[in-house]
Amino acid sequence: MADPHELQNNLNKIQNSDDIASLFGRIVSGKLGYKAVIDKNKPQVKCPSCNFALSGDEKFCPECGNRLEK
Ligand SMILES: [Zn+2]
Repeated sequence: MADPHELQNNLNKIQNSDDIASLFGRIVSGKLGYKAVIDKNKPQVKCPSCNFALSGDEKFCPECGNRLEK
């Protein structure tokens, strides 16, 4: 079991680190990095017509009714 105080200290170190801060800034601001994070969880499918976020299983967009190609 990890010591909660040690975890908190490590967290403070990370948050105070300029390297991590700039890295996070790049991830949040950079579209490529941001996309990579999203893709890890789930591939983001969007309706090409209205940009509605889809689960990927729809045959038609529930928002605008556009037919979705695989
Ligand atoms: Zn749509």
